[in-house]
Formats: sequence, structure tokens, C-alpha cells
Amino acid sequence: MTEQSSDGPRSALPGSRMCAYCKEMTGNPVAVGAVHQNSGPGWTVYACPEDAARFLDRAGLWAALMDHALRCGPCRGTTDGPGCAVARVLFDAHRGAAGTGR
Ligand SMILES: [Zn+2]
Ligand SMILES: [Zn+2]
Repeated sequence: MTEQSSDGPRSALPGSRMCAYCKEMTGNPVAVGAVHQNSGPGWTVYACPEDAARFLDRAGLWAALMDHALRCGPCRGTTDGPGCAVARVLFDAHRGAAGTGR
């Protein structure tokens, strides 16, 4: 998967995707699943950070947070909790999901 860098097309923000829940474009999409079709490769489903918890379980939220942190400067710069607003949303969602297991 290769993302356009900042010198990509101007029509849309590079890496922005439509949230599968609220249908808003988000510049910080979180991959929440994949749709598979009988024919064709299918596609990845994205949600905005606020809605990611609607699609992901606790492990999925943590994986999304780790994936985000790898690509986010502020988050890479800290090992002590969320480094940006996106990470904070995912972090809180993960914590909130922790109590709802079984
Ligand atoms: Zn959303
Ligand atoms: Zn971040």
C-alpha cells in the first residue's frame, strides 16, 4: 500500500477517506475492516477516529493505535500515552472497550 505524499493531487487531502459510519471525510482514517466481494479484490473500510470504536474491538483499537503511532510524528516522539488528538481518541476507546469484554 503506497500513500501519496504531500505533493499529491490537490483535490483531496492525501490519505483522506470517507468514514463508513458518519460518511464524513477524515484526514485521519482508521482501517476498520475489509469488504470482500465474490468477484474482485474488495476494498478496505475506513472510519474516522471517533467512530472506529463502533467497528473495532479492544484488540483492533490497540492495533489501530499502534499503526497510527508509526506514521504520526507527535506520537512517535512520545512513549507516554497519546501524542495527538487522534491517538487520544483511539487510546480512550481502547480503554473504554477494556471493560466490555465477556
Ligand atoms: Zn465517522
Ligand atoms: Zn498521533
